[in-house]
Amino acid sequence: MSGLRIPLDGPDGAGTANTLNLLAPNPSAMTLDGTNTWVIGGGEDVLVVDPGPDDESHLRRVTGHLEGRRVEAVLLTHGHDDHSGGAGRFAELVGAPVRALDPRHRLGAEGLADGDVLTVGGLELHVVGTPGHSFDSLCFWLPEDEAVLTGDTVLGRGTTVIAPDGDLGDYLRSLDRLRATVERVGARALLPGHGPVLPDPIGALDGYIAHRRQRLDQIRQARKQGATTVREIVEIVYAEVDRSLWPAAEMSVRAQLSYLDG
Ligand SMILES: [Zn+2]
Repeated sequence: MSGLRIPLDGPDGAGTANTLNLLAPNPSAMTLDGTNTWVIGGGEDVLVVDPGPDDESHLRRVTGHLEGRRVEAVLLTHGHDDHSGGAGRFAELVGAPVRALDPRHRLGAEGLADGDVLTVGGLELHVVGTPGHSFDSLCFWLPEDEAVLTGDTVLGRGTTVIAPDGDLGDYLRSLDRLRATVERVGARALLPGHGPVLPDPIGALDGYIAHRRQRLDQIRQARKQGATTVREIVEIVYAEVDRSLWPAAEMSVRAQLSYLDG
């Protein structure tokens, strides 16, 4: 693969030969450095994935980087606000439709679903359905750059939280599917929705899968020790984790309990 860029000072400007990340200024415990907005395409036409939150300065910065290139479509990896909040405004700025799995986030007639193949300026982008983090999560495989855009299904750092509109069983299946896809096609980079580019896709996915299994085991153990409420489980399993992340941990424990008991 040519042109993999991993800046040392953060995800902004990261990418591959035909992708560029423009980092949105919304850092937090949940969004890491902020949301990664990906511009895809080497020619006159581009796709923009996840315009990010409704932040005019960020959206203007992205349009500035386009330098007159035409946005064929805005794509969403999923509908959470830190990815989609600015999509409507951005679409208005560039005169493009918004394509997403969830019809509520679309602008225009076309949706987006597993198996779709989009082309832009001679590049192919293959849509891979990866529900779990949210019910509507998608990944995008870009063969030319041997790279997969993963949204919040795989992050550049730490691990993904199963949101209230997600499902852990679906998520585990999606990780397995993504790993099989990455292995089959020989992907050499993951381009996440938050955090830095991952140059070892199989290693990253194996780490994610192992982490999930380990957490499930820890929750089983915590219950054996007598923990019954979500809070009690968090206090045991996430004892080493900063307390500012406990609300997210509670969400994650809830998802795991419904998986274990479902
Ligand atoms: Zn996100």
